[in-house]
Parts: sequence; structure tokens; C-alpha cells
Amino acid sequence: MSRPHVLIVGAGIAGPSLAGWLASQGWRITVVERARSLRIGGQAVDFRGPVHRAVLERMGLWEAIHERRTRLGAQSLLDASGRTLVELPALMMSGDVELHRGDLCQLLFERTREGVEYHFGDAPTALHETPDGVEVEFEKQAPRRFDLVVGADGLRSNVRSLLFGTAQDCLSHHGYRVAGCTLPNELGLRHRGVIYSEPGRGVSVTSAQDVNQVRALFVFTGAPLGSHERSPAAARQVVSEAFAGAGWKTRQLVEGLREAEDVYFDAVGSVRLARYSQGRVVLLGDAAWGGTLGGQGTPLAMVGAYVLAGELLASPDAYSDAFSRYEARMRPYATPAQDGAKRVGGFFAPRTRAGLVLRNQLYRMLTSKPLERVFEKLVTHAANAFELPEYAAAAFVTPQVPYGALSG
Ligand SMILES: Cc1cc2nc3c(=O)[nH]c(=O)nc-3n(C[C@H](O)[C@H](O)[C@H](O)COP(=O)(O)OP(=O)(O)OC[C@H]3O[C@@H](n4cnc5c(N)ncnc54)[C@H](O)[C@@H]3O)c2cc1C
Repeated sequence: MSRPHVLIVGAGIAGPSLAGWLASQGWRITVVERARSLRIGGQAVDFRGPVHRAVLERMGLWEAIHERRTRLGAQSLLDASGRTLVELPALMMSGDVELHRGDLCQLLFERTREGVEYHFGDAPTALHETPDGVEVEFEKQAPRRFDLVVGADGLRSNVRSLLFGTAQDCLSHHGYRVAGCTLPNELGLRHRGVIYSEPGRGVSVTSAQDVNQVRALFVFTGAPLGSHERSPAAARQVVSEAFAGAGWKTRQLVEGLREAEDVYFDAVGSVRLARYSQGRVVLLGDAAWGGTLGGQGTPLAMVGAYVLAGELLASPDAYSDAFSRYEARMRPYATPAQDGAKRVGGFFAPRTRAGLVLRNQLYRMLTSKPLERVFEKLVTHAANAFELPEYAAAAFVTPQVPYGALSG
């Protein structure tokens, strides 16, 4: 393929990360994003350990990310009177550096927009593979042919559905639901967070960059949710019911959720796929291995983009081999990291009172001085369990052909 043309579906984190690596080597990159503008919502995302840091440094983003860091410190597990039971160190909950997802999304877009054709407000509806490319039909624009297609369209990837069946079939459910929103900082938190749990339900509140605001997360047991059940209105209703009668300041927080504008609601689950690619189409980021919560989705998406780009650039005429090497490298790294999504519900909201007592005892022990190093290893183990390959030609964005953003 001379100067391959790649369609990347999704302008979240994985899509622009891959776009920047490939565009730097003269590949023609089109990114199509369903939303009409960048989706800069979400809470904080973090990076931990040398693997994450090396990728950010190779992308030239380490300093920019540091400038935007949240500086979140320790988080406390509270009892119903608000007394601290255990203090969790910053490394556990917010890694070496944490920033708001929206800030990262914006940064990646700004760094790549000149060399990449961004198309907002459109989405693919069909993919037809031919011997020399993929014919893609879109909701709005006319059909186009690409050499390769990358599905970087998140947890409920439509590209994945077009390849392997409906999104729901690939998502395994872990028995919990999560709702999040921004609230006024009535607790007066500064660079810290608190977690209050009862059997089967827990709420976490962390300070935001704006000192007048906090981010609240409600985690509670529950069944999977259909698409019509994940609306903010449904969240308000379901969270009110799930937290009825809960102690500490939960009632005020639930009342806050009723007024909040940026309500997010989902079931806690993770993607399980037999393979990441088929023919000329490959999945990246949450679309391939994502988990709703606690699975390091953002750093994995960026490491994955680095590896996929490196493998494609190493053998541009043998995309199938490149996809196989990418999967062989990423699967053993992404799968255990995403197991965090299985445990996260039980951490915020152990199902029984005995489980709650046990959690508190365990974390009291793990955060004690003698076990400091052991704990540090535990919370960075999954992130560090990867040998980052060296790729000869890789650079992150030195645009070859200016594009700019289009909207559909
Ligand atoms: C609005 C939002 C808020 C989030 N908040 C958090 C958070 O607080 N904490 C956290 O850890 N993770 C959060 N995530 C998930 C996190 O961004 C990912 O786990 C991780 O960064 C991997 O990124 P990704 O690019 O694979 O997926 P995402 O960041 O989810 O990006 C996928 C992109 O694809 C787009 N898309 C979806 N379907 C289509 C389609 N059919 N056609 C075209 N485009 C499509 C989406 O609009 C989105 O922009 C959030 C994701 C989103 C979209």
C-alpha cells in the first residue's frame, strides 16, 4: 500500500492517539466521530508506572498532561459519622498523574487536527470488504473506500457490532451499576476524596479542578441495562431508589444528582472478544477490551494505539500480520488490566456487612507503613506488566498534509 488511507471510527482517546502516529508517517487518516463535537465529558483518568509514562513521553505529552493534572491526593474510606476509617494513598486511586478525560481528549485533538481529516456528526452504517479495500457507507456522507478501518468507537462499538454481532453480546456484566455527575463542593473537599459504603451501595466524592465542584460516583448492585435504561432520567430514579435510607451525607448527594446536568449512568461490565480484527478491520481501545470502570481504559487505549501504529508501520503491506502481532502483544496486557472492572463494584460497595468489614481491614493493613512497598506494587502491577516495543519509524504528529475539522 502506498500512502494507505485509514478510516478511524471514534474521536475519543484511542482514535486520535492512533491518528497522530500514522499521520506522522504520511498515512492518510480520516477520523469520523458520531457526536457533533468532541465529547469532552467524563471524570478523571490516570496514568501509573513506567510503561504509561514512556508512551506519553514518546507522544510528547508528558509535560502537557502534568500541566493539566488534577493534583488529587489521598482518599478516605468513611464511616456513617464521616470519620476516616482508612486513608488510601493517591497512587491507588489517581496514579502518578491524573487529569480530566475531557482535557486529554481536547489535547489529543489539538495535537492531531492539522494532519488528520476529522469528520464530526457522522458514523458508518455498513462495511463491505473487497479484495483491495473496505467500502464504507455512512449516515450522512457518500460511501468511501479505505485501505483499512479501525473501530475506536468505545465500549459499545458499532464497528464491533458490524463485525461480530450486537454490542451487548460482547459485554459481560459484573453485577453492579454506576452513576456519575458533577456537584457543588458542599463538603469543602480540597485535592482529596472520600468514599462511604454500605452493603451493596457506595458513593465516592472527589474534588474537581474547579474548587467549587466535586465529582460524585454512585456504585450499587444491579442487573445489566438496556440502551433506553441508561438515560439521566432513569439514573435519577434508580439511584434515588437504590440509596433510599442510606447514611452519612448520601441523601444530599442523591438530591444533588437530581439537579445535576452531566449525569452518566451505566452497568459495570467489560468487553470480551475472541479476536480484535477481521480482514481489514481492527478494533482498538474500549471497543476491543474496554471496561466500564476501574480498568485503566485510557492508558491502555494509548499504549494500544502506539503498538498498533508501530506494527502497521513496520509492515504496511502485511496488515494481517500486523494485526496479529498487535493482538498478541495487547491481549495479555489488556485482559488482566481490565479485570479491575470485575473488582471495582465490590471495592466501592461490598455486598455484605462482613464483606465491608473485611475490605476495611484489608486496606488498613495494606496501607500500613510496613506494607507500603507491597501496596505500591499491587496498585501498579497490571499497568507495569508490559514490555513496550521499540519501533524504528515512529513519531507522534509531524503533519504531512493539512486537513482541519469538517462537520457532517
Ligand atoms: C463522554 C465520555 C466520558 C467518559 N468518562 C470516563 C471517566 O470519567 N473515567 C474513565 O475512566 N473513563 C471514561 N470514559 C471512557 C474512557 O474515555 C475510555 O475508557 C478510554 O479512554 C478509552 O478510550 P476510547 O477512545 O477507546 O473510547 P472513548 O473515549 O469512549 O471514545 C469513543 C468515541 O467513539 C465515538 N463513537 C461511538 N460510537 C460511534 C460511532 N458509531 N461512530 C462514530 N463515533 C462513535 C464516541 O462518541 C467517542 O467519542 C468516558 C468516555 C466517554 C465517551
